[in-house]
Amino acid sequence: MKDLSLMTWKEIKEVDKAKSIVLAVMAPIEEHGWHLPLATDLLEGNFWSKGAMEIIEKESDIQCYYLPTFPIAAASVNEFYGSIHFTMSTTCDVAFGLMESLYCMGFTNIILIASHADPQHQIAVEKAVRKINKKHGLCAFAPMGQIFMGVGLKKPLELEVFEKEHSNDFHAGWVETSSLLAMDNNYVREVYSGMPDSEITDRDMISRKKQLAAMGKYGFLGAPRYASHEFGVQLNENCIASIADAVIKFYKRDGYQKYEHYFLYKILPLHIGFFSTFGRVRRKKGVK
Ligand SMILES: [Zn+2]
Repeated sequence: MKDLSLMTWKEIKEVDKAKSIVLAVMAPIEEHGWHLPLATDLLEGNFWSKGAMEIIEKESDIQCYYLPTFPIAAASVNEFYGSIHFTMSTTCDVAFGLMESLYCMGFTNIILIASHADPQHQIAVEKAVRKINKKHGLCAFAPMGQIFMGVGLKKPLELEVFEKEHSNDFHAGWVETSSLLAMDNNYVREVYSGMPDSEITDRDMISRKKQLAAMGKYGFLGAPRYASHEFGVQLNENCIASIADAVIKFYKRDGYQKYEHYFLYKILPLHIGFFSTFGRVRRKKGVK
């Protein structure tokens, strides 16, 4: 795998595009509680992408390229201290511009890794993917929305059972804390094991006010105290294998469809953020 940005334009011109894929990560710099860094989603996107590229190059003749990460994303809750968000329209424009630039270089297997599960982000990215595929023919693919919805490869039974028992873990809870513990435990502040659970149902997740109330003074939604290195290894491995599966299938243009369209895209009220009156980013000056 090679970092496209460290190559010269002449070297890129010589790449066999038909045998190549390019991965780009788009995720926010965003608060993740008292215990995880702002770059959590970017770290996840990079770690999963690199892991997937390793598998892809081992299991196929595909040559993998990647770009530096794009810390640009949309989110439904903006006003928490520390977050840097953009509108759905900006996110969609950046995703489109990024992918069309790669298309103009000759790449026709462009994979956008949107490693931030918020529906606003997933919909903004998918809108850009639909637009570019309509304009230039099928050349781009963003499988993370569907992987977050659980369509990827089967998880180990123990993890699946635990997930069912401790669901509603949406943001910086045991899932993300485990994931980062398994990447590098220096990313995680020890305070995670002693914080109270923050409870919210998936139904209440559609209300920004209820999300903010549940986040309280901490900024997470879920139960970080259950996090473990072992769960993190399993979660990361499953995500990496699912991305590799999706990308290889897309490259072959065979069997990738289950990853293709984000399930919640068809829910029209979730597109409201594309209108400037509703979609502004609510930035608020924090207290010191
Ligand atoms: Zn996150």
